[in-house]
Amino acid sequence: MEKFSSGNEIRKSFIDFFKSKDHTVVTSSSLVPGGDATLLFTNAGMVQFKDVFLGTDVRPYTRAVNSQKCMRVAGKHNDLDDVGRDDWHHTFFEMLGNWSFGDYYKKEAITWAWELLTEVWGLDKTKLWATCFKDEKNEIPTDDEAAQIWSHQPGFEEDHVLFFGRKENFWEMADTGPCGPCSEIHIDRGEQFCDKKSVPGHVCQVNGDCNRFLELWNNVFIQYNRLSETKLEPLPKTHVDTGMGFERIVSVLQNVDSNYKIDLLASLIGIVQQLTGMTDDEVVKNYTPYRVIADHARAATFLIADGVVPGNTSRNYVCRMIIRRAARFGGKIGLNEPFLAKVAEVVIKNYGEAYPELVRNRSAILSSLTREEERFQKTLEAGLMNLEEIFNELRDKKLTIVSGSVAFDLYATHGLPLEITRDIAREQGFDVDEAGFKDAMEQHRLDSGAGKTFGVMGNDNVDNYRTVFEELVKSKKLTKQGVEYDPYNNLVLETEILAVFKDGELQHEAQEGEQVEVLLPKTCFYVESGGQVADTGSIVSINNDFKIDISGSRRPAAGLIVHSGVVTNGTVKVGEKVSVVVDAQRRLDIMRNHTATHLLHAELHKVLGKHARQAGSLVAPDRLRFDFTHPEALTPDQLEEIERGVNEAILENHHLNIKQKSLTEAITEGAMALFGEKYGEIVRTITIGDEEIFSYELCGGTHVDETGHIGTFIITSEGSAAAGIRRIEAVTGRVAYEIIKKRSSLLKNISSVLEASTENIIEKIDHLYLNLDNLRKENAKLKLLIAKTTFISELENAQTIKGTPVVGKIIPEADTETLRLMTDLFREKFSSGVVVVATVHENRPMIVACVTDDLVSRGLHAGQLVKYLAGFVGGGGGGRPNMAQAGGKDPEKLDFAMTKIFEYIEENLN
Ligand SMILES: [Zn+2]
Ligand SMILES: [Zn+2]
Repeated sequence: MEKFSSGNEIRKSFIDFFKSKDHTVVTSSSLVPGGDATLLFTNAGMVQFKDVFLGTDVRPYTRAVNSQKCMRVAGKHNDLDDVGRDDWHHTFFEMLGNWSFGDYYKKEAITWAWELLTEVWGLDKTKLWATCFKDEKNEIPTDDEAAQIWSHQPGFEEDHVLFFGRKENFWEMADTGPCGPCSEIHIDRGEQFCDKKSVPGHVCQVNGDCNRFLELWNNVFIQYNRLSETKLEPLPKTHVDTGMGFERIVSVLQNVDSNYKIDLLASLIGIVQQLTGMTDDEVVKNYTPYRVIADHARAATFLIADGVVPGNTSRNYVCRMIIRRAARFGGKIGLNEPFLAKVAEVVIKNYGEAYPELVRNRSAILSSLTREEERFQKTLEAGLMNLEEIFNELRDKKLTIVSGSVAFDLYATHGLPLEITRDIAREQGFDVDEAGFKDAMEQHRLDSGAGKTFGVMGNDNVDNYRTVFEELVKSKKLTKQGVEYDPYNNLVLETEILAVFKDGELQHEAQEGEQVEVLLPKTCFYVESGGQVADTGSIVSINNDFKIDISGSRRPAAGLIVHSGVVTNGTVKVGEKVSVVVDAQRRLDIMRNHTATHLLHAELHKVLGKHARQAGSLVAPDRLRFDFTHPEALTPDQLEEIERGVNEAILENHHLNIKQKSLTEAITEGAMALFGEKYGEIVRTITIGDEEIFSYELCGGTHVDETGHIGTFIITSEGSAAAGIRRIEAVTGRVAYEIIKKRSSLLKNISSVLEASTENIIEKIDHLYLNLDNLRKENAKLKLLIAKTTFISELENAQTIKGTPVVGKIIPEADTETLRLMTDLFREKFSSGVVVVATVHENRPMIVACVTDDLVSRGLHAGQLVKYLAGFVGGGGGGRPNMAQAGGKDPEKLDFAMTKIFEYIEENLN
């Protein structure tokens, strides 16, 4: 086979082929799955279409083609350990797919797959094999239909259809839900590709485990709905979901024996080789570090472009871990300075045309990588030394497992991710208790109040809602597009009640006091999305028979919107005419905050840079909250500049332009799309500013017509939301006015209490502080004087032991200086004697002892004395024979310690 064209051309030829078969080209969704909290990363092409298969989303097309960015770092799909050690595993990869949503089925899918592989890409027909489904339990029918279609393909070898069971050839989304048989296409690359020849009993075959037969493409035919472990029902509409690993097909078409030798990855290995200056032979000997670096640098580049910066938890942790792992493997081949940005430049060059987000985020990518490498270098050496000690200890104890808590500690204090500790441990013949690590990490997260990472997928009575939807469409009460949704124009409308639900079940009517969900043919209530909260309001029957207070709304199934609320009056009946009223005041507050959020986002870009991208947002009536990626706390100057910038944009009273556009057009024009958000083909764009464009975002939210309506914008707080993510909270409009009013009345109160005009408040406070300071000093002087006088009068009653005066006294609230002063007073009165004075200072006991010189020669030692006494208060200390000082931890025991002075002298004084 000749070397085929470049990887970029191959990707394009796949897309173009299906475009020519009337498929809509769909942009890859973000690596951060939109609206799916159950998934760490997008790990397959179907993630963005999941809701279409589940029936909770509809698209304007029924045929789609895409190349999806995927990431697999955890779970059953990937053992990170393999990445870099073999030629086929990746953390990040691309998945090519063509899709039919209730449109074409097996015949077209198979025929087109064959045409693309053999006619367009010119693969040898005699080398291709197909597998079809045959149930080993004989419960699900054999997919003879697919096998038949295969046998009719021109040039297909008759005996190249094989049947396999559930593990290989039956696909299920979850324990229940859409599922169906698959048909895989494998290629026989020839005997020379077998890497298991030396394994006794090895036979090269389809689904064998050598490199000779490779699985190229999986076609999934979704035709059943699984209700339970044993029960399947046919779906009313069948779907096609296909997936072809991009790197693998490119390796076949470029006739290389490793994914890392395809042009897109070989050039990454190439730049690393340039940096190390190794010869080709040396590269081959060190292939693992090269592969790890190529894979991880590519993955980190794509992650950062999707807003996932290095950090301590979940996705951010993964980004940190792969950068650090790549950096450590760099160290193995002599790269000890930050180098990943240089590799990332090549990634951006190779992939920038297919994935323009890489080009747009170039500077954030390069700086994040370098910063993270620098951070890692600072801690790496200490971490490695620590690890070496741990290994020595284990060797001494003849143990082989590094405990989870020790591994977590290495991460928490020395920044060594588990995966790196594990790498190093395995290199030295140890292993790590990974479950223990996860427990320790989870405990740490809970201790720090972060809560659990991922919840479980909610699954309510979608089927009930779907049935109602289908019946309403049949009876023409609803169109196929579903409920008419227009929250943008009016806040009041008249319509009728189509259905009432209670706890997900359809009702005939609902009584006063009941919590219900109401379905209408159209609505002006905003459904929560894009961070903007749902509207509240009421639904009232036209002839005043009943009233429902609406507290929110949601989309329980494709095409349906239900309003939830409590019946406050009367009996709700289906078919009744109602007027629907959104709480207008509240909505206007929300619109002010939403438009202000766009202004804030734009201003953050201006002041901090383009890397400050949205990572989360809440638009509520009383406040707005905006999370964005930025490595450090904002300075007061930056905050002031941002607040001023937003207020200026408000005063300039920019007009808002709202248009529907195709996603591609909007992105090309530079509209800001938010990561983690799901977009359709047609998007709503919000532009602020006419001549000079101030802000341009994709957004389905509701906005004011002109920025002047926002009123005043006030930032109320700035802080950390998560590692590498900052959070700003702010208020506008009525709430901002309330804050200003409250603050100015507070100021008035303060000025009246201080008896100063508002202009002179600071001066007055300074003056008061000065007075206070003087009084404090005077007070301290007086206290000392009292202590001195009391002490002197008590010296009169000094005890004597063996003819020597001994004084032991606790002075309340003293410091070291005062204590030493007291010993001076003692010596002024007695030329020979022992004095011990003590106090409790900041809740710690402190003892000072003084022994006159003549007594030192008679066996007393001030240092030993205080050490002895401090022993009773949980402390220690010492000093010279004639003067010493000690501290302790236990103030309650000080009284007791002081009684021990006399025993000590009795015993030691000769
Ligand atoms: Zn083989
Ligand atoms: Zn918005």
